Amino acid sequence: MRIKDKFIEIRTVIWSTLRHSRKARSVSAYALGLGFITFGAMGVVPAPELPNFITTTTVEELALPDVSSQIATLNPDSQQFIAEERVRSGDSLGSLLERLGVDDQQAANFIRNDPVARNLINLRPGRVVRATVNGNGKLLSATTIYADGKSPTKKIRINRTNDGFSSLEMETILERRTEMRSGEIRSTLFAATDSAQIPDAVAMQLVDIFSYDIDFASDLRRGDRFNVIYETLWQEGEYVRTGRILGAEFLNGGRTLQAIWFGDQEKNQGGYYDSNGKSLKKVFLKSPLEFSRVTSGFSLRVHPISGLWKQHKGIDFAAPIGTPIRSVGDGVIDVASNQGGYGNMIVVQHGSHYSTAYAHMSSFAAGMRKGVKVSRGDVIGYVGTTGWSTGPHLHYEFRVSNEARNPNSIVMPEAPALAGSDLQNFHATASTMAHRFALLMPRDERLASR
Ligand SMILES: [Zn+2]
Repeated sequence: MRIKDKFIEIRTVIWSTLRHSRKARSVSAYALGLGFITFGAMGVVPAPELPNFITTTTVEELALPDVSSQIATLNPDSQQFIAEERVRSGDSLGSLLERLGVDDQQAANFIRNDPVARNLINLRPGRVVRATVNGNGKLLSATTIYADGKSPTKKIRINRTNDGFSSLEMETILERRTEMRSGEIRSTLFAATDSAQIPDAVAMQLVDIFSYDIDFASDLRRGDRFNVIYETLWQEGEYVRTGRILGAEFLNGGRTLQAIWFGDQEKNQGGYYDSNGKSLKKVFLKSPLEFSRVTSGFSLRVHPISGLWKQHKGIDFAAPIGTPIRSVGDGVIDVASNQGGYGNMIVVQHGSHYSTAYAHMSSFAAGMRKGVKVSRGDVIGYVGTTGWSTGPHLHYEFRVSNEARNPNSIVMPEAPALAGSDLQNFHATASTMAHRFALLMPRDERLASR
């Protein structure tokens, strides 16, 4: 896949370099033709006036060249090129078409106005558009695949017809492949996932899955390790997007946490369980701060005003102003106002027993006021430094019967567990994952554990 990506890149460079010269089109046709031979997809585009810059030895006996097809090839209208481009952020339809080598106002108008084809304009960065273009830059066909993870994957196809263009949208089935990666924390989680070549979409799933047990901004230690097994989705041999994490293992500060996905793949219903079949989803998240690339460098949980738990009765999280703050559990907002030294503060009541307080916010999220219901993970406000505060941070209190407690030292409500035939089926899935995790272990440890 990497080689192929590289190849597409090279092709694009040739294409964009030579695109503006009509004469050069046959050069790029030649280069493209050679490219396709390499991947065995298309026939040779003969270009007899060019120097031989690639020599091939053929063992097969070849039929004599058909001269009429060579002549036809010299006519730009009958030449065909396939170009493929990834949508970049900030792309417009115009810039995308230009990179694809399309110089066709009629096609651009059709794409802008046709209810199906116009989805091409709503392209998200990373999506791939493939176009067939003739030697004069006229669009012959274009396809793209929609895969936002929510609706079924769709393919859009635009075809040139005798009197214009037609468009078609169809559902398409993606092929699933499995990738296995492992990484070690040396500085931040993202540094580790980057060096293990794990896409951000997978890194963020990893954060999400373990967000009940690990505060990724504060709990990671140098030398922590993780293994992750995830799906990638493909269509006709082309990578489309990453899928779901099927299993993950995190070795964090001497403990090993496991997550195994179990559920109905087709119905897209399921969840993550530990190796005993206990759900990883708990009543409360470990951290009220949303973890991202921006906050990943702020790995400090600090007490800037008072260093001791006893005097302070809360946890202070240093974070940039504007970092989203989440409610750690389902509940109802009890306070959302300026509270003197606490500055802008929200208190969320979770049932009759527990409540959480979030102070010094720069602002509340839209609609946050007393009596409003919030769900676990909802953004309720943003980090600031209002009230009695020496710098941007979140003061967070976890209260049991209105008494601030250290959330790390109290017994939290139990997570639900699988039972019966579900648990039996789960054990089969879990043992497959255990085998895969073992394969991902560094070699010396694998030998030692035999
Ligand atoms: Zn504080």
